[in-house]
Amino acid sequence: MSADATRIYFDRAANELDLSDAMRRLLLTARREVQVQIPVELDTGEMATFIGYRVQHNNARGPMKGGLRYHPQVDLDEVRGLAALMTWKTAVVNIPYGGAKGGIALDPTKRSTRELERITRRFVDSIHDLFGPDVDIPAPDMGTTAEMMAWIMNQYGKYHGFSPACVTGKPVEYHGIPGREEATGRGVGALTLKILSRRGRQAPGTRIALQGFGNVGTFTARFLHDAECRFVAIGDADGAFHRPDGLDVPQMLKFAQAHSGRLEGYTGGDRMTNEELLAVDCDVLIPAALGGVLTGTNAAAVKAPLIIEAANAPVTPDADAVFDSAGITVLPDILANAGGVTASWFEWVQNRQHYQWGINRVRQELDQILGSAFEQVWQLAQERKVSLRTAAYMLGVGRVGRATVLGGIG
Ligand code: GLU
Repeated sequence: MSADATRIYFDRAANELDLSDAMRRLLLTARREVQVQIPVELDTGEMATFIGYRVQHNNARGPMKGGLRYHPQVDLDEVRGLAALMTWKTAVVNIPYGGAKGGIALDPTKRSTRELERITRRFVDSIHDLFGPDVDIPAPDMGTTAEMMAWIMNQYGKYHGFSPACVTGKPVEYHGIPGREEATGRGVGALTLKILSRRGRQAPGTRIALQGFGNVGTFTARFLHDAECRFVAIGDADGAFHRPDGLDVPQMLKFAQAHSGRLEGYTGGDRMTNEELLAVDCDVLIPAALGGVLTGTNAAAVKAPLIIEAANAPVTPDADAVFDSAGITVLPDILANAGGVTASWFEWVQNRQHYQWGINRVRQELDQILGSAFEQVWQLAQERKVSLRTAAYMLGVGRVGRATVLGGIG
């Protein structure tokens, strides 16, 4: 996902909203972009230098919010695009935040826990003056975990004192909240059911292909399996499994849990590649892993009439155009996966009030916020005869634009 790709979607919405060039430029430019050096000692005793990024895109509606990604392909351009997505995402669900994103270019599967801890703490040493509860609040993203968020809070506290609200997605036993971990997948599942019912379809028997079996993928699978959907294909980083009669989701969840989160070696389905999974015969395709997997080259092979963007930016603008003309509906990332940041907001609010909700209240409030954002996006798409993506961007960009005008820039 590059910043240019996000811009194409932004421009479409900006045209519909008739935004001035000056406002477009302001909304497209990041407030601050930081790149830092992270020198650490590896377990071997050797020294290694990693590069960390944090892009703080916009704070017109509140403190900036967004995940921290550990992945070998992280670079400034990707983080910039993802930071802007967070600005539109928090605005679509109407929570009082702006948008940010960060990352470190590294492969977390190749680093020991102690190395990851040293890298994370060292990153905080470099940027602790640039984030915080009222400024910018990191959270988990691809390759990062609740445990890492605990290190961030602990390290930040060494400089600024007890500040649990400086980061979200923390372990429940360490100032996190029940329901945050499942929230992105739960939201993806709940919104999938909503859109199915709008199309006059029942959940039972609906055939789903899911790419990604990490945090988002597993909780999405759990939720939609409970709703009696049929998973005909599921893939993770090592490849995919196919079973037209339906894969055994509880068994796959157990298998992954027992094998460090991976499905390699599972035997309950026919092997296929991730590329084949995207083209499988199904009713709903849910890319829940990497960005940019559906491109101008492979989009025409997609058979699903409905795509739910559980990952950030899995559909490139070229693919989006193909889906548009083929009548394939895409539920855009800035709505589909907004459950995570919404539950992060609950965590932040509770941290600041030293109070804790139970899981039922978290789920209820999450469902309510996502449900109402879905209604608004759906209505706008009907009224203006635009795609759900353009409608979601119109809602998000419009809200950020209005807050900018109200707050003034003087
Ligand atoms: N990384 C998640 C996202 O892309 C969650 C961000 C957050 O909770 O702040 O939406």
